[in-house]
Amino acid sequence: MSEQAKSWAVVDLGALRHNYEQIRRFVGVPVICVVKADAYGHGSVPVSQALVDAGAEMLAVACLEEAATLRAAGIKASLLLLSEADESEVDEGLELDLHFAVYSKSFLDLLAERARRAGRVAPIHLKVDTGMHRLGAGPKEALDLLEQAVALEGIALAGIWTHMAVADDPSDPFTRTQLAEFTTFLQEAEAILEGRGAEEHPLVHAANSAAALAFPEARFDAVRAGITLYGARPSATFPMPEGVDLRPVLSWHSRVCLVKDVPPGARPSYGRTRAVENPRIAVIPVGYADGYLRSLSNRAEVLIGGQRHPVVGNVTMDYIVVECRNEELSAGRDVELGDEVVLCGPQGGDEVSAEELAERAGTIAYEILTRIGPRVRRVYVGGPT
Ligand SMILES: *Cc1c(COP(=O)(O)O)cnc(C)c1O
Repeated sequence: MSEQAKSWAVVDLGALRHNYEQIRRFVGVPVICVVKADAYGHGSVPVSQALVDAGAEMLAVACLEEAATLRAAGIKASLLLLSEADESEVDEGLELDLHFAVYSKSFLDLLAERARRAGRVAPIHLKVDTGMHRLGAGPKEALDLLEQAVALEGIALAGIWTHMAVADDPSDPFTRTQLAEFTTFLQEAEAILEGRGAEEHPLVHAANSAAALAFPEARFDAVRAGITLYGARPSATFPMPEGVDLRPVLSWHSRVCLVKDVPPGARPSYGRTRAVENPRIAVIPVGYADGYLRSLSNRAEVLIGGQRHPVVGNVTMDYIVVECRNEELSAGRDVELGDEVVLCGPQGGDEVSAEELAERAGTIAYEILTRIGPRVRRVYVGGPT
């Protein structure tokens, strides 16, 4: 680690592989590994390479640029684009040999035409909106699209899929409503495909991490897992099933860059939002520009010397201030300049999890992880050397 790195994230590819294997074994069907948003902040190229080494055959990305990055790095696995490509991206998408999400007639026609022109057949995954009400075509419209797709030259129906809105709360009956809607759609789709004597069976997938773990009937031919690959829970209250052991993949580190005593009652940082209880404070060179959310101001704790230290005052762009503890001062063990700080991850016997930071910031672990910025260098361990 260069001396200049103010904070860095250690990404444990061994833990990633472990999580992939845990999920793959538990769900019993192929896992489409979701590596969008730079693999949830972990670095999409090393993560994808490790997942492919572990046996993953399909990866999913949010946009063309993410797919292009993986292809440029030599990743040969199937790549599923989770949304319809823009018109300006279709040719490159074909070139990159992507699986395309489809949920509109205009895109289907455009894709078919461009594919024929390029002398290719574009694999499509028809997306049905069963209640998430974000992307996807409603069941009726999707059936029309299906009929059109199977009749179109240049198009191969490679998948049929949907997306769950509330699977992270397994007690919510809406997931079963969505699954019932999807199952009905599949029966109707099946009838159309049989009528046409279609030989290839489209890959049916519906489950994100939460649905994959909590709803066996949501697994179909494959599941799409993101957050659990990275070792975090889909929500703070999500009941992790027995027999699934996930390990956090990323930990976030920094070093104390200044220790000093301030007058009693001092209120560090912008806004002077909180008075110190102890006179000794430590400054850590990480801030909201690195993705340490400003909403963690006066709420989060960091680990130094295996002990928790509360963030005091507002998180600033480049720095946070933490309070040293009475017990430490009286035990003569001071925080010192250069001490390693863990912002997220284990240290000593304690751990600050992404879920904990999420709860304190009023968000979800997904946001904690994906916000860790480009200024934070990623250091990879546990992979092939
Ligand atoms: C991001 C995403 C996933 C992965 O969800 P997790 O909760 O991280 O497992 C699956 N499917 C779609 C369509 C997504 O956008």
